[in-house]
Amino acid sequence: MNKILIIEDEEAIAELEKDYLELSGFDVDLEKDGESGLEKALSNDYDLFILDVMLPGIDGFEICQEIRKEKNAPILMVSARKEDIDKIRGLGLGADDYITKPFSPGELVARVKAHLSRYDRIVESLMPDNSIIKIRGLKIDTTSKEVWVNGETKSLTAREYDLLEFFMKHPNQVYSKEDIFRELWNMDAIGDIATVTVHVKKLREKIEVDPAKPQYVETVWGMGYRFKV
Ligand code: CA
Repeated sequence: MNKILIIEDEEAIAELEKDYLELSGFDVDLEKDGESGLEKALSNDYDLFILDVMLPGIDGFEICQEIRKEKNAPILMVSARKEDIDKIRGLGLGADDYITKPFSPGELVARVKAHLSRYDRIVESLMPDNSIIKIRGLKIDTTSKEVWVNGETKSLTAREYDLLEFFMKHPNQVYSKEDIFRELWNMDAIGDIATVTVHVKKLREKIEVDPAKPQYVETVWGMGYRFKV
């Protein structure tokens, strides 16, 4: 369940917001002044904040800036004053949206839902996706660049790692030394492609039980290499 913090000193508005959001399935906390609101905002995990601008103690602008220094969750600001709205728009406080009073509770709920789903999508897109690749006894983590052979950590140079990741992402395909050189050395294959042979040899020494009889990086005579699945 998504948790929302409302900081609002006007009792009637605060209760209305809370009731509607709870009816829509949100878990809602309410604070009525700036200091306790900011403290609660920073010491708990909320999915979204609704901040009134005019508050006793610390105002909504400052709370917004303080929250934004620590948290990425959406912030909706609420105010009746036109100059506040201009300030929210113009100052780069880190607020995601603003709502002018008076507003309908339905509008508030719709905005909250829109911001939460947008935020969920952003968070999801930042999550490492399928960062582990595992083929038989070989496992790599493409985020941390770690390599395990039969459960044992292996230390590879950056180039050896890149070569292994390339092979594991393109299993069962034959690549010529020129192809590999072009892929990994990031230039047209005008350099010395013998460097590919050298790196394949070093990689085999680290990942193969018997480098002379490779189980993973196979030589395809006259063509190049293939990573066997
Ligand atoms: Ca107020």
